[in-house]
Order: sequence, then C-alpha cells, then structure tokens
Amino acid sequence: MRVAQLGSGTPEIAVVAGIHGDEPCGVRAVERLLDDRPSVTRPVKLVVANENALERQVRFVDEDLNRAFPGDPNAETHEGRLAYELAAELEGCLTFSMHSTQSHSEPFAIVKGLDELAREICPQLPVSSIVETGNFAEGRMFSKVDTIEVECGLQGSETAAENADRLTRAFLTAVDALPGDTVRKELPVYQLVDCIPKSTADTYEVFVDNFTRVDAGDAFAAADGNRQVADEPFYPVLMSSYGYTDVFGYAAEKLDEVSVTTIS
Ligand SMILES: [Zn+2]
Repeated sequence: MRVAQLGSGTPEIAVVAGIHGDEPCGVRAVERLLDDRPSVTRPVKLVVANENALERQVRFVDEDLNRAFPGDPNAETHEGRLAYELAAELEGCLTFSMHSTQSHSEPFAIVKGLDELAREICPQLPVSSIVETGNFAEGRMFSKVDTIEVECGLQGSETAAENADRLTRAFLTAVDALPGDTVRKELPVYQLVDCIPKSTADTYEVFVDNFTRVDAGDAFAAADGNRQVADEPFYPVLMSSYGYTDVFGYAAEKLDEVSVTTIS
C-alpha cells in the first residue's frame, strides 16, 4: 500500500485507487494529483491499495480485496491483511474509491445506502446513475469505511483513466478540498436485489445492456449456449460475460431519482 497526502493536517478525505490490480485508471488519477500537487483547502489522503496485484496486473493475489473487509492482521491471505491495514489507514476519512469494469463504459457511483452524504455528493459527480448495494455489501470496503465507489469505465481504457481524473476532481470539489463549483443533476438510483448466478461452462454470453430494463420472458445470458430467461423484469447492473467467476452480475430495481435539492 502506498500512502501520500496533499495539504497539511489530519485528512478527513481520502482517495483510493488500485483496490483491484487490473484496474489502472484510478492509479493514473492519483499519480496525476501527485504530479500536479493542486493546492487544497483541506488535507487529502491518497492511497494506492493493492500494489502487489497492480504489479502483476491481476485483480488480486489471493482473494478479492473488495470482499475481504474488515480483514485481519493475521489473515492467511495478502488481501485479508491488506483490508485490515487499509481500514485502519482510512479510519475517520470519507473515502472515494475508483474502479473500472468489463460491463459498462459510462461512469456510475456505487454506495452501500443512499444516506445524506451520498445524496449530497453523488449528484455532483460526472456519473450517469447511482447503484445502491443494500444487502450485497458484505466484505466490501464500504462495509467498514465511509466510501463512495465509482466505476470509471472499461478496464484498461484511456477513457476510464480520463474519467477517473474528472471524477476525482469533482469529488474533491464537492467536499470543498478543491476550489470551484460542481454541476448538480438528477440521477436515477438502482438498488441491487439479486445476484445472477452463472453455472460452470466454457463460454458465456450476455445479450442485454446494463441499466436497460429486461422484461419477463427475455433471454438475458447464456452459458455454453444454454439461454437464461428472465422470470420477472429487472435492470441488469455490473453484468458481463467474464467479469466475475461465479456470477454474471446483479439484478436491480429502479428507484426514484435523487433530487438535486441540497439537504440542509
Ligand atoms: Zn474494481
């Protein structure tokens, strides 16, 4: 884990990159902040989390770091120990954590629940929607640390790296660490309600677009050519053929839009 800081004092704001070692976009954004050294109006902690996995360009060394929280200093896995150290490092910080996906090119925010902080900050980010994980937060960093996650775009793409940079600056502006104004907009909210399991197979296909409604009776994916058909309508989120080993992704419900009204 690499830790650096902009500004002086004890940070209550943190930016985290490299939770997953095969998602370099956030690391680029952090390195750019370290090169530019913008003058901040409150101190910001910058963290590059899983350096071992980044070096090997793999998602993780032993286990998924974003399923390993709260972690343990004596854990047998690298990520189990790292989760514990990272949670200690980020204690008391509102944390902005960057990811990228194989499933969707447009940035979106992921939060555990739509609390006041999420309602206040997410509409100021250049994202197209908010995903609320609800009961699917187990082991994720935001189960232990106050975190707003963002998906910056497609893994390894130049656009994801540019988005990561824009998202980070918007976040730092929204929390008054960088000067200036953000643009607020209404955002649709999707709440995860189910995993979409995938059986063991050689080839996987996904036939639907994320955040676009799938109707009952629609075939949405296939494993070795066996089509899976929706029993009920749902919105696919983080759904891709090969993004995860055991699930295609998640089924979500669409909730009301978050209004742009500032919460006093
Ligand atoms: Zn990730």
